[in-house]
Amino acid sequence: MENIIEIDGIQVSGDHFIGGKRVSSTERFPNHSPIDGHLIGYVAAGLPEHCNAAIEAAQAAFPAWAALGPDKRREHLHRFADELKAWGEKLARVECEDNGMLYARLKGHQIERCAHNISFFADEALKLKEHRIEGRNAKHHVRFDPAGVCVLITPWNSPMMLTTWKLGPALAAGNTVVIKPPEWAPLTCSMLADVAAAAGMPPGVINVVQGIGATTGAALVADPRVARVSFTGSVPTAKTIAKSTGQNLVPASFELGGKSAFIVLEDADLDRAAQTAALQYRNAGQVCLAGTRILVHSKVADDFVARMQKVVAGLRVGDPRDASTEIGPIIHPRQFDKVAGFVDRARDRGARIVWGGAKHEAGDLYYQPTLISDVDQGDEVVQSEIFGPVLVLQRFDSDDEAASMANGTRYGLAGVVFGSEGRALRVAEQLRTGMVWVNSFFLRDLEAPFGGVRDSGIGREGGQWSFEFFCDMKDVMLPQKPYAPVFAGR
Ligand code: NAD
Repeated sequence: MENIIEIDGIQVSGDHFIGGKRVSSTERFPNHSPIDGHLIGYVAAGLPEHCNAAIEAAQAAFPAWAALGPDKRREHLHRFADELKAWGEKLARVECEDNGMLYARLKGHQIERCAHNISFFADEALKLKEHRIEGRNAKHHVRFDPAGVCVLITPWNSPMMLTTWKLGPALAAGNTVVIKPPEWAPLTCSMLADVAAAAGMPPGVINVVQGIGATTGAALVADPRVARVSFTGSVPTAKTIAKSTGQNLVPASFELGGKSAFIVLEDADLDRAAQTAALQYRNAGQVCLAGTRILVHSKVADDFVARMQKVVAGLRVGDPRDASTEIGPIIHPRQFDKVAGFVDRARDRGARIVWGGAKHEAGDLYYQPTLISDVDQGDEVVQSEIFGPVLVLQRFDSDDEAASMANGTRYGLAGVVFGSEGRALRVAEQLRTGMVWVNSFFLRDLEAPFGGVRDSGIGREGGQWSFEFFCDMKDVMLPQKPYAPVFAGR
């Protein structure tokens, strides 16, 4: 019997989805809501036979899906995107319950973005067949052939959005996929399979194997039949996965963590900067892109902190289902302890807790928005990704010093610079990151490359960069002039 989990009257399957059918497991793992810790239900744990069956199903579906061509796939994917919007209310409610993201943000923004992740790449794939180069010697027709079975692995902080962002280009390019959802928030990925099926997606094109990363995820990425692994998650997991994919010479893309700098130059619009700095607490700080190191010019630091404090004091922490809430819970007791541990150790070492620094009265998994100052560049709160509502404050005296401090961690995902435009742009140029927002934050266009450098990842998602990863490129050449076969030098 299918393992159905009920959330607020919405039925979600806790089973795998393999070859168009629900498949249960003899082993299950518990799934709790971060809202109040209650047990949502039990989810199938992927065993080796499930991983094998999912890869076989994806392999079996691959030739027909690849042969459809981008136009027909586009029709399928637009139906999928439309269906996803139609399921928007249910998906938003389940994601909110499962990972604690704000319902209002899910409904007002994320559902639309998830649908766009699918429809954008469906349209973008049409451009792939037109890639031609008129060379001196040959006419090149560069083909982007689908690679095969792709394994997609995402973290819990935004599973539906991050999965659709991989799903769009992988499927539009003609691949079939096996999704391994995050074990702390596995449910919307399960629903995506139902959404796709309702939209008429052929069986086997999308498969979902639920399970724990270290076992189920590890088995999937180590399978030599897999053509691509697209991973978003932490640095240690990426290094483990890279060993498996390296062993099989399977291309892998890694979207990893960050410790991005939020730089406020002395000529910045301080109100705008302070309001934007407070946004770094969004999703309870569980955002890879967050500018978690606030670097402020000494001359304006006190003024800036006072303005930011006013904004932060007004933020409402609480139940993410409530429309007035701005900061929800931390996903899991383990993550909560990790976040609290960073703050406690910083305090013990003499850092100053400017605000916050303790559990919030809203509940066991809620933490106060926190700012820590009086830290050194080498301190763990400056160097490590905390992934909770905790920011650090550092001061600088010149633009060059700001850039050097910003570059002083192993991460390189993003950066934010507030200041007069020319000056901010010069600082942006010096940052060793994949992305920089000048006088803004979190603006995203799917045409543009997304990704990090150094420990923040390998590869880019977005536009044609996604297809370069999800396709095997092949150059088919025709001679420009009448062709004569000759050995060199004769
Ligand atoms: P994680 O690395 O622990 O887990 C991510 C996923 O990998 C999960 O689905 C997990 O089940 C799976 N996994 C774990 N071990 C595995 C293994 N050995 N083989 C295969 N799969 C395995 O990360 P997390 O704690 O879930 O997520 C938080 C991290 O994700 C943070 O570092 C955050 O910055 C990062 N992140 C990055 C981006 C980005 O786009 N750069 C976006 C969101 C989150």
